[in-house]
Amino acid sequence: MAETVLYQRVALIGLGHIAGSMALALRRKGLVGEIVGTARSAETRAVAAEIGLVDRVVETAAEAVEGADLVVLAVPVGAMGAVAAEIAPALKPGATVTDVGSVKRTVVEAVAPLMPEGVHFVPGHPLAGTEHSGPRSGFAELFENRWWLLTPIEGTDPEATARLRRLLEAFGANVDEMDVDRHDLVLAVVSHTPHLIAYTMVGVADHLRRVTHDEVIKYSATGFRDFTRIAASDPTMWRDVFLTNKDAVLDILGRFTEELFTLQRAIRMGDGEMLHAYFTETREIRRGIIQAGQDTDAPDFGRGKKP
Ligand code: NAP
Repeated sequence: MAETVLYQRVALIGLGHIAGSMALALRRKGLVGEIVGTARSAETRAVAAEIGLVDRVVETAAEAVEGADLVVLAVPVGAMGAVAAEIAPALKPGATVTDVGSVKRTVVEAVAPLMPEGVHFVPGHPLAGTEHSGPRSGFAELFENRWWLLTPIEGTDPEATARLRRLLEAFGANVDEMDVDRHDLVLAVVSHTPHLIAYTMVGVADHLRRVTHDEVIKYSATGFRDFTRIAASDPTMWRDVFLTNKDAVLDILGRFTEELFTLQRAIRMGDGEMLHAYFTETREIRRGIIQAGQDTDAPDFGRGKKP
């Protein structure tokens, strides 16, 4: 069912997993007049045109933003500044520009100074995504019941933020506002460092593969399988996350390493009481996540009997 049209024209810069999901959600809800999209490579643009992901595919970002009321930067964090520089002269006065980057301080520093007078920049980050990427990987339901954090900066027009919030809520997302640096620290805990740990664990198994290769694949029914899913995430995106959220990730990684040494010592000393108490506390965190509706409590994440 069509809801109110919130923006006449939306420009999606980047046509990958997040922008593709946004295009499908925008279409399904009838929230905008026209969706224009562009991507860096001719190949991605051709796929987007072939599957009708957006109404109009154009060759450059500058062309895409012409006359757009909302511009979404959906490229890797490290590419945001260059894209902002390209589109800045072509932005419509009064337009809102947002981004979906996983790190906020670097994006704010790269993009905000380039925004012309009268253009509203509202940085954002959907806490939603899968390990898949590219123009065919999106789906309209991706943002349902997921958080979408907005990190407005000094001078951000509250009306521009409120309108964007209405759009994101129409996707089914829960929208919250957060300070830029707070965002980067929280995400280092809940997303960035866990990804690094998954990459490390899969790397360890890979380095041992001469000894364990067949067994690792064959018996990966437990924790390791979930690590491999996370470690299959897009290498460009995650390289940029770690290069740009360096301080927060190093802080959390330091704390992680200290905890790991504590557990290592407990194992060495046979301190079962300590391990039991520790695991009892961590179990509560999982319960909290289920109660907050952020994951399923189905056994094995609802995989059922599938192999
Ligand atoms: P994706 O599927 O890999 O799509 C990235 C898009 O950006 C592609 O259209 C790509 O064009 C374009 N691009 C790549 N490098 C570029 C460059 N140097 N200059 C201009 N365009 C470039 O990635 P995604 O998952 O949608 O991620 C996009 C953004 O969303 C990232 O900032 C990421 O941090 C953020 N994010 C991702 C997730 C997630 O789980 N996936 C969740 C939340 C936020 P080509 O295809 O032509 O190369």
